[in-house]
Amino acid sequence: MHELAMVRSIYEVINEKVTEYGVKRVKQVKLIVGELTGIEESIMKSCFEIYVQRTPAEGANLIIEYVPIRVMCRDCSHEFETSIPFSDCPHCGTKKFHILSGKELYIESMEVE
Ligand SMILES: [Zn+2]
Repeated sequence: MHELAMVRSIYEVINEKVTEYGVKRVKQVKLIVGELTGIEESIMKSCFEIYVQRTPAEGANLIIEYVPIRVMCRDCSHEFETSIPFSDCPHCGTKKFHILSGKELYIESMEVE
């Protein structure tokens, strides 16, 4: 499952900090997630809840903030927000883009004890 793999890599980062700072309990984790990752909030939250059982992050509140997909047209350099499936460039009508944002997946902040 896609989300489980994501949770695993996120947990590795959490665990590193827990060890590094001797954290007793993680109360809240804020994630930045690009819409292109296809991560579904409810699945992500339940995977996380199960994965962190019996760890210092058990019961932690997971907050997910989505980053919209922004692209730049390769032909006319027009920048705009889109979703999946990508729409055509509103300026010149092509479908060839550079992706500017939407692939993010990282922990922005953690609240700990
Ligand atoms: Zn264009």
